[in-house]
Amino acid sequence: MALRVGVIGGGQLARMMIAPAVELGIDLRVLAEGEGMSAGLAATAVGDYRDLEAVRAFAADVDVVTFDHEHVPQDVLRRLVADGVVVHPGPDALQFAQDKLVMRARLAELGVPQPDWAAVRTIAELQQFLDAHAGAGVVKTPRGGYDGKGVRVVRGAEEAQDWLDALDEGDALLVEELVPFVRELAQQVARRPSGEIVSYPVVETVQRDGVCAEVIAPAPAAAERLVEVAEGIGRAIAEGLGVTGMLAVELFETDDERILVNELAMRPHNSGHWSQDGAVTGQFEQHLRAVVDLPLGSTAPRAAWSVMVNILGGPVEGTLEERFGAVMAEHPQAKIHTYGKAPRPGRKVGHVNVAGDDLDDAVYVARAAAAHFA
Ligand code: ADP
Repeated sequence: MALRVGVIGGGQLARMMIAPAVELGIDLRVLAEGEGMSAGLAATAVGDYRDLEAVRAFAADVDVVTFDHEHVPQDVLRRLVADGVVVHPGPDALQFAQDKLVMRARLAELGVPQPDWAAVRTIAELQQFLDAHAGAGVVKTPRGGYDGKGVRVVRGAEEAQDWLDALDEGDALLVEELVPFVRELAQQVARRPSGEIVSYPVVETVQRDGVCAEVIAPAPAAAERLVEVAEGIGRAIAEGLGVTGMLAVELFETDDERILVNELAMRPHNSGHWSQDGAVTGQFEQHLRAVVDLPLGSTAPRAAWSVMVNILGGPVEGTLEERFGAVMAEHPQAKIHTYGKAPRPGRKVGHVNVAGDDLDDAVYVARAAAAHFA
């Protein structure tokens, strides 16, 4: 019988697992938040991922449970594990991707380089941190943030007053030093339950308005030391936290050549979309192989350079598909990936991958192809 993998969450990450699942003969099922989600092409159940009984019913018919997002509550996950369900990544690992304060504390224990940080509950505590860091900091809500929501640069503690006021008893905000980074990088690794780890080349990510806009793989002009440090950080976190499946580590590179961890994602990640067309094993196939504990695939690049450009917002009129003819005729090198989502300002609705020998050329084609969808 085919292995059955259940993905909780029906977004584009689940959608992009479908093609590799078909090729590997994996029976992929999705627990989607509603009808008509990105991953609705797979066998889909609709249910609330916070509802233990809904998740239990979904998990009863699969061999492994994995995720499209990190929002399934710990108590639901722990009950599944207690029921004997195989969950990858498991709750012990996932907690560090669900809560940025829990992550910072654990990375400190592991000795992984990261920005200075503190947990703050009051204006006085926050101001004290800012005073010790040239008057500025980045305040984050520990849970539930994404695409820059829940992240605020502040130059005075009162700028976070509303978030402090909204804290529940016993909760805190995370404050970090404002890192003077020269660029953002991401390191991905995959790890199997049995321990095998492979790492992808470190990539450069470009964010606009808190949202990933472009990725270049490998990161241009990356010194050998940087490549080694980034890979070492990825492996140390995957092993130290017991991650299974794909792990993405978002990194800052500073002007004094330090590499600091920003945050973690324990699932396929936007910074790895290039690998679908630019690596021997794309991240979605790799995630499936890892969670069912099959030997991992080669992460070797298939071209000198890969460039990924997100399609944000989508066409003001019509659909992405209506633009296919023009884009494909003009840019036959471009690989187009769509998410089946209605266009909306700022929303990620697809991406374009281009791989080739010349970086400038690949960047040009990927941007030009993505611009057709604006
Ligand atoms: P999200 O969970 O919403 O992706 P992140 O923690 O990744 O939030 O922060 C979003 C963006 O904000 C980062 O990509 C980076 O550009 C900026 N940022 C976050 N933390 C810091 C920091 N400590 N110093 C400087 N910039 C930061």
